[in-house]
Parts: sequence; C-alpha cells; structure tokens
Amino acid sequence: MARYLELSMDIFRYKKDIRKKIESFKPGTTIGFVPTMGALHKGHLSLIECSVKQDDVTIVSIFVNPAQFNDKNDFKNYPKTLDTDLKVLSNAKCDIVFVPSENEMYDKPDHRIFDFGNLGKVMEGKYRPGHFSGVAKIVTRLFDVINPHKAYFGLKDFQQFAIIKKLTEDLKLPVNIIPCPTVRENDGLAMSSRNSLLSAEERKHAALIYSTLFQAKKDSRKYTVGNIKKNVSNTLNEDPYITVEYFEIVNASNLAPVQSWNEPSVKVGCIAAKVGNVRLIDNINFNS
Ligand code: AMP
Repeated sequence: MARYLELSMDIFRYKKDIRKKIESFKPGTTIGFVPTMGALHKGHLSLIECSVKQDDVTIVSIFVNPAQFNDKNDFKNYPKTLDTDLKVLSNAKCDIVFVPSENEMYDKPDHRIFDFGNLGKVMEGKYRPGHFSGVAKIVTRLFDVINPHKAYFGLKDFQQFAIIKKLTEDLKLPVNIIPCPTVRENDGLAMSSRNSLLSAEERKHAALIYSTLFQAKKDSRKYTVGNIKKNVSNTLNEDPYITVEYFEIVNASNLAPVQSWNEPSVKVGCIAAKVGNVRLIDNINFNS
C-alpha cells in the first residue's frame, strides 16, 4: 500500500481490518456506504457526494463481483482502473475504501437462494439469469462487514434499486437505502463504466438510446403504451449499431407491465440494448 500513502483516506483489503477501523469510531458516528465495481465516473461520484454531505464517514467499496455476471467474457472484459479510482475517491473526500479480493469476499461458499418474486423475474432477471442473486449475495456480505446506516444506489439501475429495497425490507436489515438520480453525459447517454468499452463510432450511436426514451415520454400522451413500446424498439433497431434486448413500461412499485396510461401507478420505461457488443441499460420515468 506504500504507493498510496499520498492519498488522504484509508484503504483496506481485509474484512477484519476495516471492521477494526469501524469499531474504533466514536458511538453515534453515522456511516454512508457506496458499493461499486470501480471504473468510477461522475454517476458514482454523485452517490459519494450525497454520502459525504449526509454522513460522518463515507465508505466506498470497489469489487467486480463474479457472482453477478452470467457471461464469463463480460466479467473478463469489465473495465478495471483501480489507481485512477483511488485518486478520484481521495479527491471526492471519501474516507475509507474497501478493495477486497474474490477470496476475501467469498471465503465460504454461498448457497443462499433469494426470491424477489416478480421483481426478480422480469427484465434483467429474465435476460441475466442469476444476476440478482449474485447482487444480493455481495450486497448482504458487504453490509455485514460495514454495517452502514445508509447505502446509496443509483436509479440508473432501476430494477436493482427495487430489489435491494425489497432485500433489506425482507431481511429487516437496519440500513436506509437511498436512491440517487441518473447522471448523464451531455448528449443524454447514462454514465456507465461500460461506456469506456464503446468505440468512438458506437459511442455516438449510443446517445440514441436516451433521446429515443425522451421522445417516447413526450409522445406518451399521443400514443398507447403498446405503440410507444413498438416505436422505441423499432427506432433503436433501425440503427445499425443498436440491438434492443427489451423495452418494458412497468409499474415502478412492483415492475409489473403497464397496459394503459390510465393505470394509477408511476410508470417507468426500462431498456437494455446492445451497442456493438456492449450491453447498456437505461430507464425513464414517465411521471416525473
Ligand atoms: P456499478 O459500479 O456499475 O455497480 O455502480 C455502482 C453504483 O453506482 C450503483 O448503485 C449504480 O446504480 C450507480 N450508478 C452507476 N451509473 C450511474 C449513473 N449514471 N448515475 C447515477 N448512479 C449510477
């Protein structure tokens, strides 16, 4: 760790060490936690900023969690920029970084099976089997180590947010799950670590995802839910670089598909699309 001595924060690799540090805090110290997979961007930083404002101590974890990848190549190719991430975190006034190895996080086999009902069966749950179970395994393990008062999650991963909320309610975990709005590039593309995997040409085309969602929101008074869904998929699939995996308009509270704009629910349009070989997700709230 010597080369990180100039950074103004503590960096831990082992659970026992970070626990010891946390146990040394004065009683009443509030802990805000931001779990990440690294390759940090302004979306992550917005979560960290919220925690720095609201909590006495901000802890960020960086761990690319193999259990949540259903595609080995996706895991292998996931961007890793640890040295830059640590500098960024130090500048962002993060207090503590937890960077465990796979052995450290999964020292004992984890055979738990999670049931999120409908929340886990649709969209990402359907197209990435086992993904949310992997997310639940790592998030509960990290919560167990850190015992945060608050944990910050981005609404860019809308379904993940709903799942984490349910998980903490079902398990009665004493942590407040705080939603944070999606941070976008100037052309509307949702910031994502995976954006760095796009070629320059793919990157230009990727902006069509959000502009199409935005147009769908504007058009939602004029067309039925079914027609909006078709329009979004057709517009994006006409682009030679983009292939839509799914576009669903769902009830925000249970992720059930919405049939009509007249239903009394908050409606969110969620999309997964490949731009070249890079799989991106995004969403738009039709009510806000
Ligand atoms: P990741 O490193 O992709 O696992 O993301 C870590 C956290 O950052 C998750 O809670 C994400 O939802 C959140 N996040 C990722 N991208 C964005 C974004 N563009 N805006 C807001 N939050 C984000």
